[in-house]
Amino acid sequence: MQPVEIIVCVECGGRAHLLYVPDPESPFVEGDYAAYRCEECMDRFDLEVTAEDVADEERGAPEF
Ligand SMILES: [Zn+2]
Repeated sequence: MQPVEIIVCVECGGRAHLLYVPDPESPFVEGDYAAYRCEECMDRFDLEVTAEDVADEERGAPEF
């Protein structure tokens, strides 16, 4: 999976860019952190990759 490359900075409303792109051979998985840095205030954010970001087949499993 691939986290979004640009998010809205919670501090100033500027654009925060993904600091690095994951290796195609070791993509992000749930629980990893994607690092962003804001171009306006230079603040850094680490966002946890959630289940909503991973493949759809990971979701909707029936409960037994
Ligand atoms: Zn900012």
